[in-house]
Amino acid sequence: MNKPVRVRFAPSPTGPLHIGGVRTALYNYLFARKHGGKMILRIEDTDSQRFVPGAEEYIAESLRWCGIEIDEGVGVGGPHAPYHQSERREIYLKYALQLVEAGWAYYAFDSAEALDTLRKEAEAAGKAFAYNHEVRETLETSLRLPKEEVEARIARGDQWVIRFKMPVGEVVKMDDLIRGHVEVNTSTLDDKVLYKSADQLPTYHLANIVDDHLMEISHVIRGEEWLPSLPLHYLLYRAFGWSDSQPEFAHLPLLLKPTGGGKLSKRDGDKMGFPVFPLFWTSPTGDTARGYREDGYYPEAFINMLALLGWNPGTEQELFSMQELIDGFSLERVSKSGARFQPDKAKWFNAQYLHHKSDAELAAVYQPILREHGIEVSDEVAGKAAGIMKERAQLITDLWDLTSFFFVAPTAYEEKQAKKYWKGDNPRILKEVREVLASIEDFSLENTEKIVHGWIEEKGYGMGQVMNTLRLALVGAGKGPGMYDVTAFIGKEECLQRIDNLFANLQPAE
Ligand code: GLU
Repeated sequence: MNKPVRVRFAPSPTGPLHIGGVRTALYNYLFARKHGGKMILRIEDTDSQRFVPGAEEYIAESLRWCGIEIDEGVGVGGPHAPYHQSERREIYLKYALQLVEAGWAYYAFDSAEALDTLRKEAEAAGKAFAYNHEVRETLETSLRLPKEEVEARIARGDQWVIRFKMPVGEVVKMDDLIRGHVEVNTSTLDDKVLYKSADQLPTYHLANIVDDHLMEISHVIRGEEWLPSLPLHYLLYRAFGWSDSQPEFAHLPLLLKPTGGGKLSKRDGDKMGFPVFPLFWTSPTGDTARGYREDGYYPEAFINMLALLGWNPGTEQELFSMQELIDGFSLERVSKSGARFQPDKAKWFNAQYLHHKSDAELAAVYQPILREHGIEVSDEVAGKAAGIMKERAQLITDLWDLTSFFFVAPTAYEEKQAKKYWKGDNPRILKEVREVLASIEDFSLENTEKIVHGWIEEKGYGMGQVMNTLRLALVGAGKGPGMYDVTAFIGKEECLQRIDNLFANLQPAE
């Protein structure tokens, strides 16, 4: 690579960042780090109609949560500031005019109503209207109108746009680092708007190319939905005389629905019960969308899962730290075809991370959840509870259901379990167990187990019957870890109290 690597993530603040967008940011970041380059964050906010308050903050926080570090750009600054396109508005007009001057672009004065009529007429004839080489000479443009007329219209404040004058019948030859060589005949393309007088702002195409050039971007790594724009972008570089220094392009495959067909959408997530956004989102109108963070995922697991949706390490390895991703990443190993999102696999990844956390690490994520439930315990106690049950959890948010009985005595009893065990001799035997427990001095897991087990065997009672009845008293259900994990955790007094509660709360069946 001869140019220093400089890549950019260039989202538009039009809503919460979809996980496909996070993956784009991630691949840019991995590529930058791998090649000792710079990761730039540019906010493409020139479309005021689609601007959504809070979206930019959401994007920044998502990247932070994911551990995707920005070297230059919004929130950081840098030699090419400002990095909000809305703050760079003076820059673009000059470039649009340069294209008009050179014959690569022209003024168009068509009103919205006139274009709408043309669109409707085409529709009625069963066609789609395209503003292209076939019609441009017949419309209200500087291609047809006399120069004085154009100047007069501009001078009196008529609204205008500048459109790109797409060449006719030329084959644009493009190279994509993922898709290979692509050719498109320009006659199939329309004349895109580059600049609008109405808001004195460029459109995406102009601002994007001008900024990538000025910011010395070496590689454009972005979603496949931008591939159709690539011929125009190539031609814009040529029109400006920047072809020699234009960036290399890599268009990433789509993230597909779990069922395969089509792009992964919020609706798929809502239907099947998984988030398609990194963080919880509340829109300005109060609509909400769930997020991986709030659903109980570790960012490392989320990133690991996303990295493998479209990139293949070429080995069987599935668990990667960020550093391992950086070391292993290459655009050559990004697939051309879409990557199907698998919600169960996402959970599986999180479980792998969760199961390897120490009690202290678990305490850090579990304490806020405990506090939400009004439980105030030490980190040691929180971590221990989570540690005992972590193997059965996939998400951080599973921990409460799995461990709540450590902190809250049952008041209701699972019907199935109660029917099965709270009858016959079992209540009488549980009274005896209570006496045995009361007599134990050293209530450690091992000692309690030794004494109670020995006693059950001596008495010739059924081990399962006794343990399950005790479980009913202490947990209130058939779930939970080993019985002595529970006795040791809650302690003697609480054990005796819970046994008494069962007698007080539930009449044994005959
Ligand atoms: N602003 C565009 C987007 O929202 C950027 C596309 C590109 O990377 O060129 O995706």
